Amino acid sequence: MNGTTGLREHVPLAAFTTLGVGGPARYFIELYSESDLAPALAFAERKRLPVFILGGGSNILVSDEGFRGLVIHVALRGVSSQPAGNHTIITAAAGENWDAIVAAAVSDGLSGIECLSGIPGSVGGTPVQNVGAYGQEVSQSITRVRAFDREENRGVELQASECAFSYRSSIFNTSLQNRFIILSVDFRLHCDGEPAIVYPDLQRMFESRESDATLADVRKAVLNIRAAKGMLIDGSVEDSRSAGSFFRNPVVERTFFERIASEFSESVPGFTLDDGKVKIPAAWLIEKAGFRRGDTRGRAAISRKHSLAIVNLGGATAHEIVSLASQIVERVHQRFGIVLTPEPVMIGFDRQYPV
Ligand SMILES: Cc1cc2nc3c(=O)[nH]c(=O)nc-3n(C[C@H](O)[C@H](O)[C@H](O)COP(=O)(O)OP(=O)(O)OC[C@H]3O[C@@H](n4cnc5c(N)ncnc54)[C@H](O)[C@@H]3O)c2cc1C
Repeated sequence: MNGTTGLREHVPLAAFTTLGVGGPARYFIELYSESDLAPALAFAERKRLPVFILGGGSNILVSDEGFRGLVIHVALRGVSSQPAGNHTIITAAAGENWDAIVAAAVSDGLSGIECLSGIPGSVGGTPVQNVGAYGQEVSQSITRVRAFDREENRGVELQASECAFSYRSSIFNTSLQNRFIILSVDFRLHCDGEPAIVYPDLQRMFESRESDATLADVRKAVLNIRAAKGMLIDGSVEDSRSAGSFFRNPVVERTFFERIASEFSESVPGFTLDDGKVKIPAAWLIEKAGFRRGDTRGRAAISRKHSLAIVNLGGATAHEIVSLASQIVERVHQRFGIVLTPEPVMIGFDRQYPV
C-alpha cells in the first residue's frame, strides 16, 4: 500500500469491540496520522473494497463472518484547549478516549459534558450518534467537527449546525453516512463549573444535600448509576460486555402514546419532546412484552442489570445476539405495534438489519 505501513490481513475484530463478538477484517490498518488516510482509502478504492471506520468499537456488532473490506481503526491522538471568554474550547483528536476527555474537563472545572461520564469509545464516535445520557448530549457542546470528506477527497470543517444533530442521530449516521471520517472535534465548555442536574435520577441523589453539587460529585454519581446498570465497561463484570443500549427509545405521536397508556392500569413512562411527540423507554416496552432480565439465547442474554442491554456471557456468537434482538423486536411489535430500532451499527451482515 503506497505511502502507508502497517496494513494487516485477516485481523479478528472481536477484541476491538466491547461486545467481544465477530469475525475478522480482510484488511485492517491503524490510523496514527491524518496523512495516512488518503493512501489507505486509495488502496481500498483500487481493490474495490468497502471501508469501515472503527473507533472504540462500543457501538458496533460485527457478524460472525467478519468484514470483507478495509477497517480503518482511528488512533489519532492529541488534545488542546483555547480560552474563549467564559468558555474554553477543547479540541480533541478522534482517537482520544472519550471518558478521559470528560475526566479532564471535570477536573479542570469545565462544565458541559460531566453527565456523559463513563460512556466508552472514542471522541470521533461521539458526534456520530450524538451521544447522550442523564440530560446531556454532545451536540450541546460541539461547535465544530473536522473531517475527511470521502466524496470530495479533502479535509473539511463542519459547524455544529451542519451536523443535523437530534436524538441519537446526525448526518454521520443518516443522510451522509460513510461520507465523513471524523478527525477531531471541538467542544465548547463553560468555565463556571456548574454541573447539569436535570435528570430525575441525579436530582433525587442530590436533593437532600445541603451544599451545591460539584462537577466531580456529578461525575461520581453518574459513574455509580452506570455501574449499577452494568453500563460501565468492567472486564470482570459479565453484564458489562455489551454495546450499551441495544435499542433506541422509540418516539411516537402523542395520540399513539395515549392509546397505549389507556390499556395499562399502571402509568406508562413517556417523555414529551419539544415537538409534542413522546419518547417511550424501550426497556419498559421490552419488559412489558414479556422479557426478563437474564433471558438467554445461547451465550447471548438480556443484561441482569438493564433490560435494554444485550450482553455476551462469554463465547456468544453474533448470530445468537441477533436472534435475541430479533425476538425482542418481533414481540414488542406484536404487543405494541412499535418497531424498535437497534442502536449499534451492524457490520458484515447481508441485510442492513437482520431482524
Ligand atoms: C457499556 C456501554 C454504555 C454506553 N452508554 C451510552 C450512553 O449512555 N449514551 C450513548 O449515546 N451511547 C452509549 N454507548 C454507545 C457508545 O459508547 C457510543 O455510541 C460511542 O460514542 C461510540 O463510539 P466508538 O468510538 O466506540 O464508535 P464505534 O463503536 O467504533 O463506531 C460506532 C459508529 O461510529 C462510526 N465512527 C467511529 N469513529 C468514527 C470516526 N472517527 N469517523 C467517522 N465515523 C466514526 C463507526 O463507523 C460506526 O458507524 C454505550 C456503549 C457501551 C458499551
